[in-house]
Amino acid sequence: MQFVRRSIQALVVLVLVAIPFLYLYNVERYARQNFSYSLAGKQISDTEWFQRQILDYIDGALAKTENPDKIISAISGSPWSINILGYNISDPLAAVTLTIAGGNFYWPFLLSILPLVILSALLGRVFCGWLCPFHFLAEISNKLRRLFTKFGLKPHDIHLKRKTKFIILGALAGFSFVAGVSIFPHIYPPAVISREVFNSIFYGTVGFGFFFIIFLLFTELTLSERWWCRYACPGGAIYALLGSVRILRMVRIEDRCTLCVECDDACPFGLLPMSDKTGMECDNCGLCKKVCPEAALEYRFMTYRGEKKLIAEHSSNRKKKTRQVRGA
Ligand code: SF4
Ligand code: SF4
Repeated sequence: MQFVRRSIQALVVLVLVAIPFLYLYNVERYARQNFSYSLAGKQISDTEWFQRQILDYIDGALAKTENPDKIISAISGSPWSINILGYNISDPLAAVTLTIAGGNFYWPFLLSILPLVILSALLGRVFCGWLCPFHFLAEISNKLRRLFTKFGLKPHDIHLKRKTKFIILGALAGFSFVAGVSIFPHIYPPAVISREVFNSIFYGTVGFGFFFIIFLLFTELTLSERWWCRYACPGGAIYALLGSVRILRMVRIEDRCTLCVECDDACPFGLLPMSDKTGMECDNCGLCKKVCPEAALEYRFMTYRGEKKLIAEHSSNRKKKTRQVRGA
């Protein structure tokens, strides 16, 4: 399962890098056809050595195909709003931004959020654990953090209330409505990362967003593990709300569990699968399942009510056992 998740994360990174290169290639192609060396403000002669290598590779690969235009236009956009084979898929936060800040109910755009809304309502916060490019970077930062801890360097471990992210979402949405300007695209990591990747490849520059992401990763490393995703991300807040009704859940098999706490320690969101406390935040990443030495965690299709019932059963069994131990 982790192999599949890592492959999907790698594919997202590949797509993020491929889009600006295909765009750059397209610009250069049109510029050549028009006998011009400049288009859309981009000086073709400015391409760096590494850009040249990749553009030449794309040129060679597309020369072997019958319809290069179809391939170039197969994918465009960013995780914020991507077009794959003519179908638009947008982040729900993008729709919130457009609707609230722009005062614009553009139905085709609102419909484009349905794939991610349905996916999250079925599988939980999977966008976070499987698709978000920031999650991928934060996982690397967290690995470093755990390595530091292993070598005796204890980073701070600050905790906030999980509901902070809902307050941030509400406050920024309110500000966007009043001011008519949205802050979300400037602080939402998937949107920021894709913009910065595009700018660095296409224009050879980075902006405020690059430093914002570095700041987040540095504070994750030194102050609080996964603080942004746990307590602040407005997109994560929407995915958590949708994920509360998910039907795919990580379930603990009580008979096998030895209460070793390995799963709780492994959860990047700081959830407590050993105590059946995954709530609305679980992104079904499977890291707790991977580390469990007794294979006591399993994916199960289960409703919110079903999970509540199971948790109540576990709790009553625990009480019975405690009474037996005390009575013995
Ligand atoms: S909470 Fe936000 S930044 Fe974190 S993984 Fe989810 S969408 Fe990405
Ligand atoms: S409870 Fe398990 S599956 Fe859910 S987020 Fe934590 S580690 Fe991932």
